[in-house]
Amino acid sequence: MLRQFNAFTPFCLLLLITFCQTAFSQTTPAQTTSAQTTPAQTASSHAPKFEIDTQTEHTVKVRVKNRTYVGTPIDWYDGNLDLLRRDGRWSVLPIDSPDQYKVLSPSFSVMSREKMAEKLKKEFGKRYSVSSTASFLVVHPLGGYHKFAKPFEDLNKSFETYFHKRGHHLEKARFPMVAVVLNTRAEYDRMLKAKDSSSEGWVGYYSPRSNRIITYDRTIEESESFFKTSTLIHEATHQTAYNRGIHNRFGGSSSWIVEGVACMFQAEGVYNSGVHKRRKDRINHSRLWGIQVAIKDGSAKHKLRDIVRSDQLFRSDVDLAYAYAWGLTFYLAETQSRTYLNFLAEDAQRPNFSAYGEQVRLERFAEAFGSDFDNLESRMFKFLKQLNVKVDGRVYKP
Ligand SMILES: [Zn+2]
Repeated sequence: MLRQFNAFTPFCLLLLITFCQTAFSQTTPAQTTSAQTTPAQTASSHAPKFEIDTQTEHTVKVRVKNRTYVGTPIDWYDGNLDLLRRDGRWSVLPIDSPDQYKVLSPSFSVMSREKMAEKLKKEFGKRYSVSSTASFLVVHPLGGYHKFAKPFEDLNKSFETYFHKRGHHLEKARFPMVAVVLNTRAEYDRMLKAKDSSSEGWVGYYSPRSNRIITYDRTIEESESFFKTSTLIHEATHQTAYNRGIHNRFGGSSSWIVEGVACMFQAEGVYNSGVHKRRKDRINHSRLWGIQVAIKDGSAKHKLRDIVRSDQLFRSDVDLAYAYAWGLTFYLAETQSRTYLNFLAEDAQRPNFSAYGEQVRLERFAEAFGSDFDNLESRMFKFLKQLNVKVDGRVYKP
């Protein structure tokens, strides 16, 4: 059977966000985004014939080019093994002989937090501290626990609070989540370059493959607190959502769902909902500005079916896609929160590596929110048009 799920799940890379009034003199907001998709697996007509059990969790050792990997097999497709490693990383390994593969144990266990911390210390060296919080292991510049590590845990707790207040209980993260804060931009660029994904504008990203957030200490070049940036909150939201049952890391992703949640959490009334409780605090103003402009100039019209059906809009018009994804998510979360959260929960329950084609996406959405897409879009636009884009107390209208 042809596997329709692309094992190379895209990860989100956000450009530096400068949220200021000048954003509103432009047709697009200052907050811009760029999603990158890594290359798809190469299909081979010479796939090996032996079988590998991917249905029951067990521990295997895999040898590829003089390197050994230990984990549990989660998919075996066309000569490539998807291996979930004991520290939560997900590797895709080419295997052409059963000799590369050995079963070590009939069970699978997550690596201990102590062992993971030890390995991270070895990987990043003496110029970094590795701090442990309840849910995270944070690699960061020496001695900066309160500046770099605690904020990740605080956000994780806020995330939990937001969902808990709406009657939705999050799963416990199976693996400690890893965040890496590099000392300098230069180190970050070198790391991106090594991964063949260098870009001037990116300031941080979460990779579902490594299950890590990678960023760098920008407080040296910008006089702002480390975590007071939307980018980091956006990426940390992705990581938390994938690790706590809001999305399935191995289930294929619908970009409007994933990006909508992350954009929604960039607003302080969402990421810090215990303190900021009003609806207007929950607005992501740059995204609201983006969608209001698009509603006014007509470019958002009839896009609901498109964005639900496929991720094409994220490739053809990334600003509109992110604004629309936020607008749709915010509308559903604010006006029918129970239905929206049930929809998220069911979406996360799809089996690993199952087909997630256009028809399935449309059907699942219609089952939850109805099949009259134009009517839903009209109601959503009406709701969004009534909200005020506010910056520093001033109201802006497109
Ligand atoms: Zn994102």
